[in-house]
Amino acid sequence: MQAGPPLEEAGPLCGGVLWHPVLPQSIFFPSQAAAELDADRRAYAVWVSEIMLQQTQVATVIDYYNRWMQKWPTLQALAQASLEEVNELWAGLGYYSRGKRLQEAAKKVVSELAGQMPRTAEDLQKLLPGVGRYTAGAIASISYGQATGVVDGNVIRVLCRLRCIGADSSSPAVIDRLWDMANALVDRSRPGDFNQALMELGATVCVPKAPLCGECPVKQHCRARHRVEKELAFASQKLFGKPTPVPDVEDCGVGDCPLCPPATEPWDSSLGVTNFPRKAAKKQPRVERTATCVLERRGCHGAPEYLIVQRPSSGLLAGLWEFPSLPLAQGLQEEKQKEVLADHLQAWMGQPVVAGDLRLIGEVVHIFSHIHQTYVVYSLHLDGDVTLDPALSPSRWVTEDEFHTSAVSTAMKKVLKAREKQHGEEIGPGKGSKRKRGTKLQGASTTRPGTQLSLRAFLRAPTSP
Ligand code: SF4
Repeated sequence: MQAGPPLEEAGPLCGGVLWHPVLPQSIFFPSQAAAELDADRRAYAVWVSEIMLQQTQVATVIDYYNRWMQKWPTLQALAQASLEEVNELWAGLGYYSRGKRLQEAAKKVVSELAGQMPRTAEDLQKLLPGVGRYTAGAIASISYGQATGVVDGNVIRVLCRLRCIGADSSSPAVIDRLWDMANALVDRSRPGDFNQALMELGATVCVPKAPLCGECPVKQHCRARHRVEKELAFASQKLFGKPTPVPDVEDCGVGDCPLCPPATEPWDSSLGVTNFPRKAAKKQPRVERTATCVLERRGCHGAPEYLIVQRPSSGLLAGLWEFPSLPLAQGLQEEKQKEVLADHLQAWMGQPVVAGDLRLIGEVVHIFSHIHQTYVVYSLHLDGDVTLDPALSPSRWVTEDEFHTSAVSTAMKKVLKAREKQHGEEIGPGKGSKRKRGTKLQGASTTRPGTQLSLRAFLRAPTSP
């Protein structure tokens, strides 16, 4: 690796560049993708992994990534997929618009860019929908070896601690400076490896709550750790009666520095290096309530079937399938909820629904990134057949297995689970489908009650009476 300028030349505390030592090799699977020989296939593989990894743990993503690459190994294959197929494979990964935009971008590469991925971070960001600065930098550095940095949550944490950047880490001034630092730091000969290693450092060593500073390969360059060490030294000197001046919160000496901790939130000794990064107070998620109904009927062979309907093609959970649902006004009582839900179901089924037939199952809470959603779950069992109105949004009956392989959200899976739990409680232990000991088996008239058939007897063709 080529070394950058030494730390001593880094200039003021919050600015300048840092020398980097050799960081550990990444174990992320973008590294595997980077081994692909064809540049477009390589970029595509890195792109898929990076989009999936946004806001999602590596352990969760691996299975999704492998299934995705098996199904659509190239951009061309993905461009031909339907949104329904994409949603089905993405189901459970969250942030569904990411999969949708990935597929839209693949279509664009095939139809407008002659199937060739843009070759620089700047063009990737400019030409592909859903590709932001981070993803563009990751694809370009890992796939093409472009010497460009990346800044994600892990890199923000590492750099803010290394440089004692204490201003709001989401402010434009801090973000701009972090990008400058990342671009200056990146290794010119192995930018992809360097970027992955830096992210890995943040994910495994410089972690949010209890960073492993003692094992950190960059600890000698870390300003936050220096600060902690100075405080410890001061405390021990004081203990032995040798007072020394209390070290100030280190700052760059410039008043109103957009990178230093604000005067109102000075360094807190009890937090140590986790004083950094600082974040602005999180916006409270919107609170919403939605009534949803598990409509059930007996399908072939008596197995239950459920009605699912498709959501609009834009907005939250676009194009996914769900149980018939509708938003509830705050404070609506149960009786009123049943009435509005019955009206809503009537529109789907084209026949009257009696509000009193709806059974309240309970509440299921699901937290989306910006919405605290409570599903008020009802169930309704239908005896007769129902003809669904094709003029309405797409709808279909599915078995339990089909439900789980459909493009349904995690929230809807929780709703079905709640329904099944209630059903299990209704049946209770010892009731339901379990056969009692000694019950005569059909077609086993020659066997004594309670006696298990031999394998030979079981397989023998039934004899006529
Ligand atoms: Fe993070 Fe500690 Fe390493 Fe500094 S020394 S970069 S705070 S792990």
